[in-house]
Amino acid sequence: MSARKYNISEIFFSLQGEGFHTGLPAVFVRMSGCDLHCPWCDTDFSTRLTLTAGAIAAEADRLYPPYGGTRLLVLTGGEPTLQADEELTGTLHGHGFSICIETNGTRPVPHGIDWVTCSPKAGSAPVLTEADEVKVVYTGDSPEHWRQKIKAPHWLLQPLDNNGLQNTQETVAYILKHPEWRLSLQTHKAAGFK
Ligand code: SF4
Repeated sequence: MSARKYNISEIFFSLQGEGFHTGLPAVFVRMSGCDLHCPWCDTDFSTRLTLTAGAIAAEADRLYPPYGGTRLLVLTGGEPTLQADEELTGTLHGHGFSICIETNGTRPVPHGIDWVTCSPKAGSAPVLTEADEVKVVYTGDSPEHWRQKIKAPHWLLQPLDNNGLQNTQETVAYILKHPEWRLSLQTHKAAGFK
């Protein structure tokens, strides 16, 4: 059996607060490291744990025991495609998890991902051409150029977290004029969850 270990920042159980799966419980595996340096990034993706795929799955099982229905597990970061591979997705599937990934789109995703959320960042060059949903932070600039680059059935526009109600209202105003977009809010934060 492979002894590959993955650098992990944290594993926690919470609500998926953003995007298509908003409101569903999920285990979040925050993988360390990122290939971008977004100036507004406030995510701590430093390494705190070094775990095998089996140990990650065991911790996910402990946090979210099987209950007979679909259990979501979200690989996030940082940028999870820097480390996620078929060994990890195969192991997590073996434990019955449905695997989502939240990626900036600059690298291919590994086989075995059930739901791809691409969140492309200004100034980056995504290689991903298809996703299940695309989630863009609305900064006031038109997000339409992403629609030329990526194919996806769901397009979500999310206000900048640190810009408060004004940015939320601007985001809503944009969607009212461009109804192919849908609002995504960080509802987990509003509900007091991580
Ligand atoms: S891609 Fe995401 S995690 Fe990476 S620096 Fe940008 S906001 Fe932070």
